Amino acid sequence: MPHYPGGVLTDYHVHLRPDEPETSARDFFTDANVERYLEAAERAGIAELGVSEHIHRFTAALEIWDHPFWLESAVDDLEAYCEFLTSTPLRLGIEMDYVPGREDQIANLLDAHRFDYVVGSVHFLRDKAVDWDVYDIWEGVSDPDRVWRLYFEALAEAARTGLYDILAHPDLVKVWGSSRPVPDRDPRFYYEPAIEAIAEAGIAVEVSTAGWRKPVGELYPADAFAEMCVEAGAAFALSSDAHRPEHIGHQYERAVETMRGWGVEEIAVFERRSRRLEPLG
Ligand SMILES: [Zn+2]
Ligand SMILES: [Zn+2]
Repeated sequence: MPHYPGGVLTDYHVHLRPDEPETSARDFFTDANVERYLEAAERAGIAELGVSEHIHRFTAALEIWDHPFWLESAVDDLEAYCEFLTSTPLRLGIEMDYVPGREDQIANLLDAHRFDYVVGSVHFLRDKAVDWDVYDIWEGVSDPDRVWRLYFEALAEAARTGLYDILAHPDLVKVWGSSRPVPDRDPRFYYEPAIEAIAEAGIAVEVSTAGWRKPVGELYPADAFAEMCVEAGAAFALSSDAHRPEHIGHQYERAVETMRGWGVEEIAVFERRSRRLEPLG
């Protein structure tokens, strides 16, 4: 693993494939597409670039969960993805949902592949979606207290499983901003159990500039969440959650400035699921 004494920028939470279900892996897992991402990373000064495709894209995901959305989107071959990525200069990652009760199946799948890192996400609470207006958790919900509580409890559980290297978009539940109910309470009340789990598990917390592209228009995580993580001694990972080359390193200057404001001077770099901290670039 290269050392970066002068500082480094990473973009690990990256998708080569857009979310639209009608797209085909054949069009995106190509050398030409990888080249576009590498060029974008070079322009943005990002030395560590990796891809973490959504697990639900792959047929192997159906051993973990049979949600109707997964059933309709699981068409790609995971082995082919891993093989292709290994033939490129990119790090090999995966964005793996946390599915409660399916920890053994998740572990088996992860152990069978040579990932450089695993990004853990909570996109669903039971079968309801946190950040999608289909299967929307907010349908018929007027009291946000329960949704926020459930979300951060699930995030805490995900961290505690020890299955993941990076905890993705940690306060994703805020994604809709004011177009969904927001609790009156101080959000730190909801964060608390998650921060405790993060500290115990030693998982890296993702700083994701994708939040600035979403209705909420805020970095993931919020300042208060990040400051609690800093206090708890957590490590941070930096990513854009790009779904197109133009998103690589999206608003990184602003992100790095924000992180320095939290007192963060180092970021996590990964290879073969081992983590090291390097100076923030
Ligand atoms: Zn995600
Ligand atoms: Zn993602």
